[in-house]
Amino acid sequence: MEKVSIDELDNDPRVADVQKHATEPLGLSDMALNYYELAPGESFSGGMHTHMDQEEVFYVMDGTATFQTPDEDYEVGPDEVVRFGPGEYQEGRNESDDRVRALALGAPKGMGETRAKFPCAECGADYHVTEVDESGVTLTCPDCGNVVEM
Ligand SMILES: [Zn+2]
Repeated sequence: MEKVSIDELDNDPRVADVQKHATEPLGLSDMALNYYELAPGESFSGGMHTHMDQEEVFYVMDGTATFQTPDEDYEVGPDEVVRFGPGEYQEGRNESDDRVRALALGAPKGMGETRAKFPCAECGADYHVTEVDESGVTLTCPDCGNVVEM
C-alpha cells in the first residue's frame, strides 16, 4: 500500500497553475496519475495532441473543462469523467471564470509517440512528433524533419 497527500506533492506549474505528478510518489507501475488545477484560460496540455499508445481519462472534480477535438467541443464536469483512446486528438481547457480541479489518468504509464496537431509550415504535414524534456517542447515534422522548439 502506498499513500500520498496531494497537498504535499511538489508543484510543476509549467502548463497549468497547479500540476502535481503522483505517478512516481505512488510507485505506479502501469499507469500515470496527475492532479491539476487550471486557472481560467489555462490548458491541461498547452496544445491539441494525442498519445499513440496510451488512453487518457480526466475526472473533473470541480468546475467545468472544455475538451476540444478536431470535430467538436465537449464540456465536462463537475463530477464527470471523459476518456480519450490512443490516437484521438484532444486539448482540455478551462474556458470558464472559475477554477477547474481534475485528475488525469493515463495507461499504460508510457505515452508512446505523442503527436501535436500543429501543421508543418515547411511541407504542410498534418502533425509534429512531440518530445518534452526539462528545456521545453520540441516538435519534429515526420515528413520533412522540420524542427520547432517551443
Ligand atoms: Zn514538414
